[in-house]
Amino acid sequence: MNEVTKHEMIYEGKAKRLYTTDDPNVVLIEYKDSFTAFNGEKRAEMSGKGRLNNLISSKIFEYLAGNGIPLHFIRRVDDLRQLASKVSIFPIEVVLRNITTGSIVKRLGVTEGARLPRPLIEFYYKDDALGDPIITEDHALIFGWAAEDDLSIIKKITLDVNSLLEKLFTPLGTVLVDFKLEFGRDSGGRLLLADEISPDTCRFWDSSTGDRLDKDRFRRDLGGVMDAYEEIWKRLSGRSD
Ligand code: UDP
Repeated sequence: MNEVTKHEMIYEGKAKRLYTTDDPNVVLIEYKDSFTAFNGEKRAEMSGKGRLNNLISSKIFEYLAGNGIPLHFIRRVDDLRQLASKVSIFPIEVVLRNITTGSIVKRLGVTEGARLPRPLIEFYYKDDALGDPIITEDHALIFGWAAEDDLSIIKKITLDVNSLLEKLFTPLGTVLVDFKLEFGRDSGGRLLLADEISPDTCRFWDSSTGDRLDKDRFRRDLGGVMDAYEEIWKRLSGRSD
């Protein structure tokens, strides 16, 4: 059942395009080969990236769905596309950190690569023009970006996703350093985990070598970007070639 009628494009983001389908409550998400970093200032196209992120994200979503996480993801259609419930996205990015790196080190001057005593959750306001500034829960409540109940559900799901992803990746020799989630609400009012979970939105370090297997290879010009994404897919799909 891979023949999904693609209708109008309703949104084009940095890494994905969204199309309407015959069902007004369902959208088709198409993954692009584009890389962007530093709020869109650094860009590149890499062939095969959209496919790998679609495969990785779909595999992770299937695993999370099987473990009771409420998701917008419905199913993978083909190499580049997924079907998902149409949601209106909360204008909030939720970051969970197990190990310090990236913006928290720059912002707070804390030691790089330190394991935190417990997972740290941060909120950012989704606004490209402002460079997605960090916010507190009170900002979200006062400016009406999310309600108190929403935030507590969002935090609970984020912690659950962290435990489940650690359970998935640890035996695969992969350390889950940090990740970003987005949430939305469907037409029935259900709060769902949305967007994608991939090496674009997570940091993965190889457990034995500490090698970066994620978008930091692109951000920091480390080379071997697509090889790292391919390696994550290999580990997740159990391929040994
Ligand atoms: N992240 C993301 N989208 C963003 C910002 C961050 O997916 O717009 C992810 C990033 O890949 C990492 C985590 O969130 O896994 C924490 O990122 P950080 O705040 O350290 O930001 P960065 O160093 O990327 O600026």
